[in-house]
Amino acid sequence: MYIKDIFASKKPVLSFEVFPPKQDQELEKVLSAVEELSLLPIDYMSVTYGAGGSNSKNTTAIASYLKDHLSTPSLAHLTCVTNTREDIRQRLEEYKALGIENILALRGDRPKDFAGEDLFPGYQYASELTRAIRDFGGFCVGGACYPECHPNSPSLEADIENLKKKVDAGADFLVTQMFFDNEAFYHFRDKAAKSGIHVPITAGIMPLTSLNQIQRMVINSGGATMPSKFVRILSKYQDNPEALRQAGIAYAVEQIIDLLSNDVDGIHLYTMNRPKTTRKIIDVINALF
Ligand code: FAD
Repeated sequence: MYIKDIFASKKPVLSFEVFPPKQDQELEKVLSAVEELSLLPIDYMSVTYGAGGSNSKNTTAIASYLKDHLSTPSLAHLTCVTNTREDIRQRLEEYKALGIENILALRGDRPKDFAGEDLFPGYQYASELTRAIRDFGGFCVGGACYPECHPNSPSLEADIENLKKKVDAGADFLVTQMFFDNEAFYHFRDKAAKSGIHVPITAGIMPLTSLNQIQRMVINSGGATMPSKFVRILSKYQDNPEALRQAGIAYAVEQIIDLLSNDVDGIHLYTMNRPKTTRKIIDVINALF
């Protein structure tokens, strides 16, 4: 099923993100987490693509498994990094043969161990990849967006101008980078609409449940703003892991309820492959979808 058709038939849409294992021998463990997550009432699940395609075959394996064994529509991520145009064409052939219908088209970032010369041998920007996938045909294409501006962009305005190019190239819907300040999202959504971006924008929410995760994620998210309310929770409970976990879950729930009451198109939970934490959140907000 195309994700654009899910957005057309129901709103808000609820989705999860999972990531493939780095080691092949952990695939079974991830599949079992994915299976548990798929029992929750979601509309689709997305599967990330490792930096430089390092574990891309597991992205494909999980996306196929979701569709074939768990009756859950899947969204396979795909990046420009180190892929030639021919590599991308082969990947699209493979997805098509497996019946994977939805792709999140991304630029990607420089992998830590990248020693080559040409990081983007095929496509430079996600908009170019989006157009290539649309020209290939047969896929619904999503794109990433950044309520607090992508770190390579000089301003939110410039970033939204580029985002418009991605939508014009054929992105059917957008998924945001994680954010912790809903006001930043509302500001971005208004600006995007004024710039002529009218595809569904689903809000990426990351429940922060441990100090390690918080430090790692804030660096990886390009520095998402931490509202003072959240910083207070962190400083109060940083030495009490269970309290921090509960507070992180409660914060995510509050964020989601506020977004839903402000007519967000969808909620995309960054699950970190954790069914237990995810279930706790869904149990509280289930009736709101
Ligand atoms: P783009 O849309 O290409 O934008 C990148 C930068 O280039 C922006 O600053 C933009 O303003 C600028 N730009 C775009 N077009 C132009 C143009 N024509 N001229 C000049 N500047 C331009 N990474 C992974 O490796 N694997 C994943 O699975 C993955 N999943 C993600 C999922 C989501 C929801 C998000 C938000 C990010 C994900 N990422 C993933 C990270 C992503 O690859 C990085 O954030 C990357 O830096 C940008 O990717 P993009 O697709 O947004 O790039």
